[in-house]
Amino acid sequence: MVKFLKPALLVIDMLHEFVRGRLKSPRAEDIVFNIRALINHAHSCGVPVIHLVDNHLPIDHELKIWGPHAIKGSPEAKIIDELMPVESDLVLFKRSYSGFRDTGLDILLRDLGVKTLLLTGIHTHICVLHTAWDAFYYGYDIYVVKDAVAAFSEEDHKYALNYMEKTYGAKLITTQEAVELMKASIVKNTPPHAS
Ligand code: ZN
Repeated sequence: MVKFLKPALLVIDMLHEFVRGRLKSPRAEDIVFNIRALINHAHSCGVPVIHLVDNHLPIDHELKIWGPHAIKGSPEAKIIDELMPVESDLVLFKRSYSGFRDTGLDILLRDLGVKTLLLTGIHTHICVLHTAWDAFYYGYDIYVVKDAVAAFSEEDHKYALNYMEKTYGAKLITTQEAVELMKASIVKNTPPHAS
């Protein structure tokens, strides 16, 4: 029996910088449609949607590796229009790879009662991978939606998916499978005597 309790949908770095900017993934445009579908289903299933957004200060350590990107207040640091959050969505800003680091994500998830994370976004081998590592460390069940994440290259993408599966026990699923699990979670997470 598949264990899929109290899920949340994490959307990682679907910003102009990484979808259409200097640090874009060649496959970024391909995953926008799937993430849009996942957000729509999350809304209809009552699954929280949390955007994790790179939002750098010019002195951030990570910029020594990648150069200036997704600088706070810049157009590049904005979520793309197609995935623009609605009022009920949650947006947390980060200054390094992991969506958990100094963002308050763990306490937010615990307040929401979340046990399971659906990971989507960019890049599979950097921010998705490091968010998965912290998710594992904090004890969440991890599902990576393999056709809703993208990297700089297919090699990076496949390496990271394999790493997350082998090292963090992440389950690799398709968008369609994620939709079915979210639909099923409505029943599973409803108390037996709820009207
Ligand atoms: Zn960054």
